[in-house]
Amino acid sequence: MATEKNWNEALAPLLKKYKGKKHPLDYHSTYQLLTMVLLSAQSSDKLINDIAPEFFKAFPSMEALEKAKPEDLQPYIRKVSGFWKKSEWLVKIGQEIKTDKKIPLDMKGLTALPGLGRKSANVILRETGKKAEGVIVDLHVVRVAPRLGIAEGEDPKKIEKEIMGKIEPASWGEIGMAISFLGREICRPTDPKHDLCPVKGVCSYYAQISKGKKASV
Ligand code: SF4
Repeated sequence: MATEKNWNEALAPLLKKYKGKKHPLDYHSTYQLLTMVLLSAQSSDKLINDIAPEFFKAFPSMEALEKAKPEDLQPYIRKVSGFWKKSEWLVKIGQEIKTDKKIPLDMKGLTALPGLGRKSANVILRETGKKAEGVIVDLHVVRVAPRLGIAEGEDPKKIEKEIMGKIEPASWGEIGMAISFLGREICRPTDPKHDLCPVKGVCSYYAQISKGKKASV
C-alpha cells in the first residue's frame, strides 16, 4: 500500500518562499482591506487597486459607509463585477458595524456580514495576523491544489476541507495564500513554469507529464 504523502513536509518550500508576503490588494487599514476583499470577488485585484484611491477619498471609513446610500457608492465601483449588489452590501456592513474599531476579526463575525464568505474571511484573518480558522481557497488555489494532488475537484469548500485535513492548523493561515501566489506567479493556467516551481518534486501533475515524456522517448 502506498504511504500517504506528508504534505506539511512536501509544501515546506512553498511556505518558505511566500510566508508573510502581503496580499496583492493594496490596502492601508483593516477597513480598506475588508472593503477591497469584498469588491474583489469575481474582479481582478488590479482593478480594485486602481479604483480604491478615489473610492476611499469619498468613503474613508465605516462611518462614511454608514451614512451613504448604495447609489452614492456606485459611480466609484461601476467597473467592478456585481457592483450594484456590492454597493448594497457595503452600506449594510457600514450600518451594522458603524465604526472601524468594531470590525469583527473572527470567522463567525466576518461571514455573518453580507457579501463575505469563507474565502474573504480567511484572507482578512491572514492579513490582520489573526488565528486562522480555515485555508484561503481562491480561484488560483482551485486550479493549483488539484495539480499538486493535495485536493480534488473544483468545489472551494471541499478543497478547503481537504487541505485542512492534510496541513497542520499552525500553517492554515499561510498555506492557502502560498498556493495562491504559486498560481499567480508560476503555476499559470496555461504554460506553467515547472522549472521555476519550488514544489515540482512533489507535484502529481508534474510527475504525470514527466512519466509521459519518458514513455515517449
Ligand atoms: S510543478 Fe508545475 S504543475 Fe506542479 S505546481 Fe509546480 S508549476 Fe504547477
